[in-house]
Amino acid sequence: MFGKLIFIAIIVLLIYWIIRGKQAKKEKTELLPDEIENMVCCKHCGMHLPESESITAQGVSFCCNDHQQKYLHSKQ
Ligand SMILES: [Zn+2]
Repeated sequence: MFGKLIFIAIIVLLIYWIIRGKQAKKEKTELLPDEIENMVCCKHCGMHLPESESITAQGVSFCCNDHQQKYLHSKQ
């Protein structure tokens, strides 16, 4: 009887830990987009910069207009 109670207590604790772990994980993924912005790499010079500050042309990201032009000219 006493052994069965311990068994149930362990099961309840396990369920509690699993639920708590899932909630912590969910909070983390929800916070991520606000805290860390998606970083892109300039195709011409390789500089990393936030996506909102980059210039995107034909699906390729650049750090400035100059590098976009240079890349598009070198491609032709
Ligand atoms: Zn660049």
